Amino acid sequence: MKHGNASLQRVGMFGGAFDPPHWAHRALAETALKQLRLDALHILPTGHAWHKTRVLSPAADRVAMCHLAFDDLARVKIDEREIHREGPSYTADTLRELAREYPGAQLFLVLGADQLLAFRTWVRWQEVLDLATLAVANRATNIGADAPLDQAVETDLSRVDLPFERLDMPLKNISATDVRARLGQAAQSTAALEVLVPEAVAGYISTHHLYQNPS
Ligand code: ATP
Repeated sequence: MKHGNASLQRVGMFGGAFDPPHWAHRALAETALKQLRLDALHILPTGHAWHKTRVLSPAADRVAMCHLAFDDLARVKIDEREIHREGPSYTADTLRELAREYPGAQLFLVLGADQLLAFRTWVRWQEVLDLATLAVANRATNIGADAPLDQAVETDLSRVDLPFERLDMPLKNISATDVRARLGQAAQSTAALEVLVPEAVAGYISTHHLYQNPS
């Protein structure tokens, strides 16, 4: 496998709170696997995300929902290492570990446009760029609880002064914030939820009574 360029492994890393994983995450994973011709895609639910202030749902729930959302995709691994890491977790550290685990592999960091715009605020972002190719899916400019699902305006990435590859994925105006807000507002039928999250994730959310007090 590791002899010559043609057989170099292509490995993706896709991190997120996944609180909960939704259809846009799933589309992003599928697009990355296909377009980047990945041999493996590590999906990493974050531990203590240094850049998010909201208290996340328990890691066990987010990991369980990631299994439900992604396990049927070939070559995907739900990777719990950031959850088990002591202290704040940084993408640069995870990429270093993956580089050791897949010697000589080409690494890709899969992310949405909002994260690309914030990329220079990341801890050791230059190191991230040295280790991986950024693979970016566009995302609507207005994201969050109030964003209408049907009107999405693409984020303008033309002035981003960083090397990155675009993932060609139809714009999906879904955010986990919006999913949580809807769940907190009123009793939602599982069918209504399935517009936003995969069916098995919707079932898990209602069985475990998650997101009844959104924040
Ligand atoms: P929250 O609303 O809680 O901030 P989120 O929906 O942004 O959550 P995360 O788990 O923080 O979800 O996102 C993980 C990754 O998926 C990030 O790189 C983010 O940019 C990307 N992503 C999430 N939703 C979309 C979307 N609708 N389109 C493109 N990328 C997305």
